[in-house]
Amino acid sequence: MSELHRDVLIIGAGVAGASVAKELRHLGFEGSILLLGRELDAPYERPPGTKDYLAGKTSRDDATWLHPDWCEEHDVELRLRTSVMKVDTDAKVAKLQGGDEVSYEHVVFATGANVRRLRLDGTDLEGLHYIRALRNADSIRAELEQVEQVVTIGGSYIGCEVAATLTGLGKKVTVLMQEDHPMQNGMGETVGRYVRSVLESKGITILGGQEVDHLEGDDERVERVVTKDGSTIDAQLVVIGVGAVPDVMTAKGAGLELGESGGIVVDAHLRASADGVWAAGDCAEFASELYGKQLRIEHQDVAIEHGRTVARNIVGKDEPFSFVPYFWSDLSDWFSLQYLGNAAGGYDEELIRGSLDDGAFSVWYLKDDVLVAALSIGRNEDLIDARRLIATKASGDALKTALPDLSTDLAAL
Ligand SMILES: Cc1cc2nc3c(=O)[nH]c(=O)nc-3n(C[C@H](O)[C@H](O)[C@H](O)COP(=O)(O)OP(=O)(O)OC[C@H]3O[C@@H](n4cnc5c(N)ncnc54)[C@H](O)[C@@H]3O)c2cc1C
Repeated sequence: MSELHRDVLIIGAGVAGASVAKELRHLGFEGSILLLGRELDAPYERPPGTKDYLAGKTSRDDATWLHPDWCEEHDVELRLRTSVMKVDTDAKVAKLQGGDEVSYEHVVFATGANVRRLRLDGTDLEGLHYIRALRNADSIRAELEQVEQVVTIGGSYIGCEVAATLTGLGKKVTVLMQEDHPMQNGMGETVGRYVRSVLESKGITILGGQEVDHLEGDDERVERVVTKDGSTIDAQLVVIGVGAVPDVMTAKGAGLELGESGGIVVDAHLRASADGVWAAGDCAEFASELYGKQLRIEHQDVAIEHGRTVARNIVGKDEPFSFVPYFWSDLSDWFSLQYLGNAAGGYDEELIRGSLDDGAFSVWYLKDDVLVAALSIGRNEDLIDARRLIATKASGDALKTALPDLSTDLAAL
């Protein structure tokens, strides 16, 4: 056991934690930095896990976001396979797995999220998968040869992307979900119906308004999924994508305040409830100045921008997090969806620009007449203006008339 001091201790080596380290060095910060993660791999991007990496088209190395070589060159100490067990925020000391103790000036919680698990009969059968790490995608790929039929439980982007990728690999896929249409939650019924029509046109079966009761297998391996209404769907592989929960074990132990979403409460500058403590990425519930409320958002680019904001504030820039949330999803090479802003808190109006029939449209979400989010499928050029309009809280009748009218120049709004 040893006692160390590091100026900045970062807990969690995902993209949020890695982004703190990267930006600190970019800003010329010369203090010591320890980036600690419990996974085996250097910080990597998770999105390929349901897309090209699962399809076998890209490698683990392609997904690496921060290389150990960069860390060495920039004097960032990267320790993998190591958990932080406890943080004493009064003494400013963290206890690591193995017994080492690290005192710090600043500690950043970038502990991410874990998959939400279904507790049902049969969920211990072989052939059942969740995807959070790239290694989970490896496990799925390793079983594919013995699989003809797949069920994804959950119709959010994880379920839809897995369905698209595995269909591309020749599997017969069913998407089973509580909502009526895939991706409907948060993106609305128009988008949900569109996604459904594309998936169905590619041979995927969509079972909306359904709840899983249990899973069955004749031996040790899953053979079928049984729904609450008694229907059965044969499957030799089941992928569950029913959301994620913030990983706040260490934060809880440290007595940090947790919010309604279960995330670590931080202010607009991403400062937590104890001195020298920050949070970034999926685990952080931050005070959004743009939306005027606490938000927790699980998007890769939000995690990266959170990391940058924390770094900038550690070096004394005193800046609020002002990035307009951005998210994308690719369904094989069928279409790509880009989403800006946040309509999860609700919206009361949806305006469409372009044509759903042509697969080239943007959806504009308004709440109380104010633009809160925008989505594009095949009209990414709209998003440049969407970012500006969301950031400036654009509103009013002129905006509502202009958005669906293809003859208006959005740049002029
Ligand atoms: C399969 C998949 C596909 C996705 N696709 C998209 C997409 O297309 N577009 C998009 O915008 N977003 C996507 N996301 C979401 C995006 O990947 C996340 O928002 C992003 O990974 C969050 O980064 P993070 O660093 O906050 O958390 P994480 O990536 O979860 O990293 C946190 C790390 O901290 C570690 N940790 C936790 N506690 C401790 C501790 N006590 N000690 C040491 N280490 C600890 C964890 O093991 C983990 O490695 C996807 C996510 C998944 C799982």
